[in-house]
Amino acid sequence: MGMASVSEFDAAAPPSSDAARWRTLADRVLAGHEASRDEALAILDSSDEELLDLLAAAFRIRRAHFGTGVQLYFLVNAKSGICSEDCHYCSQSRISEAEIPRYPMLSREELLEGARAAHDRKAKTYCMVISGRSPRDRELEMIEAVVPEIKNRFPLRICACLGLLDPVQAARLKACGVDRVNHNLNTGERYHESICTTHTFSDRLRTMRVVREAGLELCSGGIVGMGERSEDMVAMALELRAMRVESIPVNFLIPIEGTRFSEHRALTPQRCLRALAMFRFTNPRSELRIAGGREVHLRSLQPLGLYAANSIFVGDYLTTKGQSPDADHRMIEDLGFRITRHESDGLSPGPLVPHERIDHE
Ligand code: SF4
Repeated sequence: MGMASVSEFDAAAPPSSDAARWRTLADRVLAGHEASRDEALAILDSSDEELLDLLAAAFRIRRAHFGTGVQLYFLVNAKSGICSEDCHYCSQSRISEAEIPRYPMLSREELLEGARAAHDRKAKTYCMVISGRSPRDRELEMIEAVVPEIKNRFPLRICACLGLLDPVQAARLKACGVDRVNHNLNTGERYHESICTTHTFSDRLRTMRVVREAGLELCSGGIVGMGERSEDMVAMALELRAMRVESIPVNFLIPIEGTRFSEHRALTPQRCLRALAMFRFTNPRSELRIAGGREVHLRSLQPLGLYAANSIFVGDYLTTKGQSPDADHRMIEDLGFRITRHESDGLSPGPLVPHERIDHE
């Protein structure tokens, strides 16, 4: 069959129904509508054929709130392994047999070196993560000592991911200059007991409330591909919306040999992109970060993820490798997007609708 000539296309044809459906939903979200559970499920259940229409609609929302900016996050695993918890997805859990580095809290010099690496890679935020159920006092003391020093030297925002926190611990983090705490919900409430038995979904929600009450920003997201149903992913997205989290990292499970979830292989790049679109429609004003598993699961479709998300990690993840920072920078440049380090750089000159900043509680 020969190629279609230009005259065979009708330039005046109305948009296809898929394009119109997602575009209308995006416009409603931009006008203040909160996407419903059914609408979120419809996004996850949509076909591969309508994926580009869905992403184009998600991009309308992303562009209105974040322009074409991409925020980079750099993560340091400040303490690895040696965890008492049994999170089934995690290579650092007490039930994991994965071969990973195990070490206690990094030194002040090593944490400062991580901050330098974050700055060199054009990151906006430096995330210090420790394994474990909750931080020990000496680990908190190290964070308290190093954060002011980092902030003196580099224009970085600081996110701490230290496990379950009580109000005193959260207040100490706020007082030393931590901007944000990461504490992931990981999945919906129904499925949580299938991924961890040593702490509950309520424990996680409690820590999120403690963080909020301390006046810190909240970063909380989850992991897709752990055997959950679409309903679980949607339940998590709506819970995050109810908590008005500033930032949502979406991980795609890397089934690590030696962990209980090493056999999960259900993700496709298209499913991952639909998940990102669902989080964008349900949480239009939250930063949305493509986190662990980006390279493994999105593969050659990685750049498409940035039409829904506005952030990525640059560098390695906790116990797995990421692609090189140069490749990430090039991907952003090739998209015609730009790296943003400050809140005010994020918006393109012409957002589709007037934007407002996230209201911090
Ligand atoms: S996710 Fe955190 S708390 Fe759970 S096993 Fe891994 S390091 Fe421990």
